[in-house]
Amino acid sequence: MLSIKNLTKIYGSQAAVDNLSFEAKKGEILGFLGPNGAGKSTTMKIATCYMAASSGNVEVCGIDVAQNPKAVRKKIGYLPEHNPLYLDMYVKEYLAFMGKFYDSEILKGGTKLKKRIDKVIELVKLERESHKQLSQLSKGYRQRVGLAQALLHNPEVLILDEPTTGLDPNQIVEIRQVIKSISAEKTIIFSTHIMQEVQALCDRVVIINKGKKVLDTSIAKLNDKLKTELNQNEYVVNLETERQIPEEDWKQIGGVVKVEINQIEPTKVKLFTQHDLRKEIFLYSASQNWILLEMQQQTQSLENVFHQLTK
Ligand code: ADP
Ligand code: MG
Repeated sequence: MLSIKNLTKIYGSQAAVDNLSFEAKKGEILGFLGPNGAGKSTTMKIATCYMAASSGNVEVCGIDVAQNPKAVRKKIGYLPEHNPLYLDMYVKEYLAFMGKFYDSEILKGGTKLKKRIDKVIELVKLERESHKQLSQLSKGYRQRVGLAQALLHNPEVLILDEPTTGLDPNQIVEIRQVIKSISAEKTIIFSTHIMQEVQALCDRVVIINKGKKVLDTSIAKLNDKLKTELNQNEYVVNLETERQIPEEDWKQIGGVVKVEINQIEPTKVKLFTQHDLRKEIFLYSASQNWILLEMQQQTQSLENVFHQLTK
């Protein structure tokens, strides 16, 4: 697991990370979200011992990164932002080269290293491309090489800095599947600025803005909240009827606070209500012989949440 407590990083006069605290537990995939410049990479560099904090602390599996970086490195795998690779190397050559930097029993000796390289190639589904030079690989496959490198020493915690940025939509789905498939028994923290990514993949989400935490919740809780509430006590139901129904008629349904008829397609209407009124809307419409073609309670989009918290 990973635990961050009151972490602050000052660059000159700017607090890039500002008294940040959160935790990621074993088996959890944590989405670490924030706009560009929010402090995600800085936090990750500190957690992976690439940089010292100004104050506060980070523990990886109970070990403090500042006090015992050597022990922390054994526990942690890191895919940096922009995934720096030596493009003139071949896949296995690169992994063997990187394997020598890890102080790990499972990589010591030629046969062990070879076996582990084959294993990580299998884990990230890189078999078909594993004979190629890195320069010949697509960006999606280069990310898999980066992931394979991060997994070499079978770390308990994986830190992935924007692993899907710059990939095409198919590659994004594939990388997400790979991350999901390796996530059991590991703690994974990955950063992104795409809200849907977090919903698709994570158990928890932490959003930061200007170095400060603005949201820390489980995805299940977040989804519930999104489903039920737009703003406090405001529900919006989108309806389409076969023929146009006047505003006054909609207001006959008790609980309808406001009616918005679509100017261009007047058979489409938004009803604003204070609680979930779908059943009443259905029954009343039926009693009046209004034919409902569509009824959907609007949910708050994750983009909206992100936007509201980080604007
Ligand atoms: P993110 O990864 O969320 O985009 P970063 O952690 O890279 O954010 O950056 C956070 C803030 O710190 C930004 O304003 C960035 O310009 C600044 N910053 C990052 N690295 C340095 C550095 N080495 N020196 C000075 N400022 C930096
Ligand atoms: Mg970054």
